[in-house]
Amino acid sequence: MNVSDKIGILKGIGPRKSEIFLQHNIETIEDLVYFFPRKYEDRRKTTPISQLEPGKDFLISGKVLSRRYKATSYKRNSPLSLLVGDGTDTIEIVFFNGRYIANLFNINGEYSFYGRVSVNLERKQMVHPEFFRAGDPADIRGIVPVYPAIKGISQNEIRRLQLQVKEVYEQIEEWLPEKLVRENRLASPSYAVENIHFPKDGRQMLQGKFRMVFDELLTLETGLCYMKNGTVRDRGGVVIDTSCASEFIDALPFTLTEGQLSAWRDIEQDLSTDKVMNRLIQGDVGSGKTVIAQLCMFLCARSGYQSVIMAPTELLAKQHLVSFRETFSTYDINIDLLCSSMKTSEKNAVTERLKSGETDILIGTHAVIQPGVEFKNLGLVITDEQHRFGVNQRSILTRKGDNPNVMVMTATPIPRTLAVILYGDLDISQIRTMPAGRKAIKTYAVNGDMRNRAYDFVKDELKKGRQAYVVAPLIEESESIDAKSAEELYEELVDRFRAFKVALIHGNLKQREKDEIMDAFVSGEIDVLVSTVVIEVGINVPNATIMVIENSERFGLAQMHQLRGRVGRGCEQSYCFLICHNESRIARERNEIMASTTDGFEIAEADLQLRGPGEIFGTRQHGLPEMHISDLIRHADILEQAKDIAKEIIDNDPDLTSPAYAPLKSRIKKMFGENIKLEL
Ligand code: ADP
Ligand code: MG
Repeated sequence: MNVSDKIGILKGIGPRKSEIFLQHNIETIEDLVYFFPRKYEDRRKTTPISQLEPGKDFLISGKVLSRRYKATSYKRNSPLSLLVGDGTDTIEIVFFNGRYIANLFNINGEYSFYGRVSVNLERKQMVHPEFFRAGDPADIRGIVPVYPAIKGISQNEIRRLQLQVKEVYEQIEEWLPEKLVRENRLASPSYAVENIHFPKDGRQMLQGKFRMVFDELLTLETGLCYMKNGTVRDRGGVVIDTSCASEFIDALPFTLTEGQLSAWRDIEQDLSTDKVMNRLIQGDVGSGKTVIAQLCMFLCARSGYQSVIMAPTELLAKQHLVSFRETFSTYDINIDLLCSSMKTSEKNAVTERLKSGETDILIGTHAVIQPGVEFKNLGLVITDEQHRFGVNQRSILTRKGDNPNVMVMTATPIPRTLAVILYGDLDISQIRTMPAGRKAIKTYAVNGDMRNRAYDFVKDELKKGRQAYVVAPLIEESESIDAKSAEELYEELVDRFRAFKVALIHGNLKQREKDEIMDAFVSGEIDVLVSTVVIEVGINVPNATIMVIENSERFGLAQMHQLRGRVGRGCEQSYCFLICHNESRIARERNEIMASTTDGFEIAEADLQLRGPGEIFGTRQHGLPEMHISDLIRHADILEQAKDIAKEIIDNDPDLTSPAYAPLKSRIKKMFGENIKLEL
């Protein structure tokens, strides 16, 4: 067996299971070796049934004393109930779908069971425990790894596979330079994987885990460091004349908030010196980031430079276009739009104007980073809602100019501690104040029973001429998940709000259709907009004062916060209803947090507490690669250590050409994939 062999060579893996594993990026023996447990269960000893305590997990073993299963042809889900005794006491073991396993148990047979103990009508019970026939090799008496769930593959199957591939551990060679291994007291990789999958005791497992976390974080940090190094900084950047800022600010129909002014003071420092700006502007939805972007782009144009703002969706790009045209109507500044859905002839006209320098400000989507798009003299690059873009997309855009200034705007209020890790190369400004005159949005958590009353309230608001958003988590009806689909909801609301115009918008519609619907909502022709999360980012309709989130238990806190930010943009009182069909403690806590604060940073902290950083740092959201074993918060100290080492490595060997770093280089490529298109 070889680490690079496909897992198909293993016993128990046919084409179907290969396919399932492949969907989880497990293709080779090596991938399986690096598929690490999520947690461990202590099954070092069996507990006498008489000593079991409810609410905890235990390993027991005993004899099946009786078996109850009523096989009926019409009712497939008959439960199987076993009475198991070990001489100290008895316990009932229950499987709800008994049909497939009823025959696996013999009266008087010896079995062991691992699971959560509960008490039902004074009787000890285990529901759906893991079970083993006496002597089953998978019945490990020790610290047992629990792997991330893979649908269609049981934990025991994964454990048996890990057992099979154990023999390749000796092929895993040390891949770090000897000096690094020594200085950081690292266990060897083969020792590490063995003790992660088959820990003998907690200490050895932790040593192994430390090594793997170190590897992963060093790979991450070296990759990030490499990319940052690729975007040359500090060398004489573009200098922008900021003296005419007040001309723009004074002409605005409002005064800037304290938060906007403080962000501007930071930016002014960057722009007016030859230091290249690399700044993250964090500000809640509605805090007024766009006008700050406009101010910077105005100054750029006045200094004779071009600037570009990249938005994550066409909808947003087009909305920016409208707002920019309005703001700049009295200035002699040329604004262009570039989106992939535009006709080729239109696109060509825009790229021509860009190249000739006729365009001062370019607004666009991903289309602006395509190879054919060239600028005459790019002075400023702004990405809006950066978390939607990959880490490297920003640097592709930056390389279209000669060391332009970079500003990243995000409405995801990442706590500062995390932002420093995530955007290590950026200076950070936060806008923590909202424009004056906004009434705080009133938020109510509503359960299924109160749903009708909530919609009656919505109807009253509609009668006053207001508009409403209703958001559903899914597009089509699904049998497996009991959540309101947008389509289903749309039909219900058409019926409920007969006097009003209700429309449905979702990601599967054609761009043109989406635009038409949005236009009609903006102009007030549509009263109620039912949607999936496509409206999440950036839409601005001040007359919309109601946000209803159906099945709120299916949304993340940060996501709900973003959605809620769609309302409360005008001077009327706005409302947000969270319709929640889940009564769990977490669901309740989440609703309480949403109802008690509208401060995005506070919500982000709470989200972090509830969900852990793993999900917040998801690849999809932030463009960071997925971590398999490390946790950027819990392992913050190892991360720091890795960062210093990474910096030293890149300082000494910026392109990682030394053969000693060849394995590191290939790991970086694997981790960053498409994102690391540079010359690695
Ligand atoms: P976001 O930070 O979510 O991008 P926007 O820039 O879209 O927020 O601003 C939301 C709305 O607030 C816009 O209509 C904008 O014109 C308005 N706005 C921005 N700054 C101020 C301010 N200082 N006073 C009043 N209204 C403002
Ligand atoms: Mg915005």
